[in-house]
Amino acid sequence: MLRTIQFALQQAYRQLSSPTPRLDAEILLSYVLKKNRSYLYAWKDKLLTFKQDADFQHLLNQRIAGEPIAYLVGEKEFWSLPLQVDKFTLIPRPETEILVEQALLRLTDNKQVIDLGTGCGTIALALAYQLPTLSIIASDCDPNTLAMAQHNAQRLQLHQVKFRLSDWFDNLTDLKVNMIVSNPPYIAEFDPHLSQGDLRYEPRHALVSGNDGLTAIRHIIQQAPHYLLENGWLLLEHGYDQGQMVRELLQQNYQFIETIRDLAGLERITLGLIKKSFS
Ligand code: GLN
Repeated sequence: MLRTIQFALQQAYRQLSSPTPRLDAEILLSYVLKKNRSYLYAWKDKLLTFKQDADFQHLLNQRIAGEPIAYLVGEKEFWSLPLQVDKFTLIPRPETEILVEQALLRLTDNKQVIDLGTGCGTIALALAYQLPTLSIIASDCDPNTLAMAQHNAQRLQLHQVKFRLSDWFDNLTDLKVNMIVSNPPYIAEFDPHLSQGDLRYEPRHALVSGNDGLTAIRHIIQQAPHYLLENGWLLLEHGYDQGQMVRELLQQNYQFIETIRDLAGLERITLGLIKKSFS
């Protein structure tokens, strides 16, 4: 039996147990129909073809099994930019937009920025879009991830972002910049959240960083002074319970240390200005 858009959606809501069943169903059906979500309301009595309905049900079943929406449709919006994602990239999170805002408050034209662990290009591309005169190096240690970031930069025509395959600073030793930004992996190895929700599907190395989740953050804080110019800033995203530790780690070489909370009121971004650039 052929179903109308409205009927297919109603049945889908009931099948889904995700936190946002209505939204999920609408995103998946608009993806199948290659239309935006308002089309679903404007044409609610339109019949789906057999193929459209089968494609929708196939995606729905994967969503019911837990697969993240962003991987099913291959895209996630960040800073109003449509970023393509796949199983090699972390799914950009709204919290990370706060890091972008904080970075923009401290940047002016023609500055140089490194985005460490860029994933699908998240922070680097948002900064480049907002401030086109920046020169940005975006790095990642995974070639598949970096390829996706490059692909996003090309699609969005943000050509001022350059890409480098690098395990943190290993392949960036020639650089000195005005700002380093990163949303590094910061989850502890045995954190139970790893077996819940979208995290189950995301690349482990993009999420997990050692016993206490702070291995990458410690490394970046220690190394960054070698790569920052005078008056250079370091901005890091971190776990909701890591603010105090990150501030302590920054104490030695940074000043004007500050933590910014996310929309849920949790400590999420900590930043500092370098005291003195290392030669
Ligand atoms: N920088 C990317 C993001 O914020 C990827 C981060 C990561 O993989 N840990 O989405």
